[in-house]
Amino acid sequence: MAAWSELLAGVRGVLLDISGVLYDGGEGGGAAITGSVEAVARLKRSRLKVRFCTNESQKSRADLVGLLQRLGFDVSESEVTAPAPAACLILKQRGLRPHLLVHDGVRSEFDQIDTSNPNCVVIADAGEDFSYQNMNKAFQVLMELENPVLFSLGKGRYYKETSGLMLDVGPYMKALEYACGIEAEVVGKPSPEFFKSALQEMGVEAHEAIMIGDDIVGDVGGAQRYGMRALQVRTGKFRWKSRLWASGDFLVTVPWRGLGAC
Ligand SMILES: [Mg+2]
Repeated sequence: MAAWSELLAGVRGVLLDISGVLYDGGEGGGAAITGSVEAVARLKRSRLKVRFCTNESQKSRADLVGLLQRLGFDVSESEVTAPAPAACLILKQRGLRPHLLVHDGVRSEFDQIDTSNPNCVVIADAGEDFSYQNMNKAFQVLMELENPVLFSLGKGRYYKETSGLMLDVGPYMKALEYACGIEAEVVGKPSPEFFKSALQEMGVEAHEAIMIGDDIVGDVGGAQRYGMRALQVRTGKFRWKSRLWASGDFLVTVPWRGLGAC
């Protein structure tokens, strides 16, 4: 493997995933991953620009940042790129009124959005609200539309909490795609538009940035397809078998034992 200095040459900006990299969610808000609080502080003291790029869709951005601050992280709301605010922007731009299948914790992000007489569906990681009734309602709304539009806040398969692996929004997105014969528009990683907006906020080009995440598809694959470098930590959802499964797809994945190792 090439030397670190060679792999990181020209990097001016770092995008950090949050869940599985900085902390694992769970009972009582979850727990910081060992070394990550210090690693973020060290990155912020360096010459590098730092931004947080998350697919978290169970919490509002304000609640997520509040939780991270309580865990000891130096992070503010303006430093976080998250899918719910990005989705609201798209809904406003396109004049769409969503039926929301989302967790109560993120519903406040949509307070300024007209949800009457819906002409699209937005799904996010709804957790226990992914009941048959709620999925069927989303299905019915889509099937009644002439041009069904489904937005999914991320498309992860699963993520890790302190109690174990948890199903993410991706499997439910796939179920609605299959039932309705449509393709969802993903707002969040690995969507190129999502990386673009995070990099614009940071003021660096894709070739000058590195994404650090625990998801081989959403973080590593998405970033590399957008022209960034990527580093997969061995915390959060990282599993050796998932890396081997995906190793043919991504050429320059550098697994790291954790953000705390930086
Ligand atoms: Mg993650």
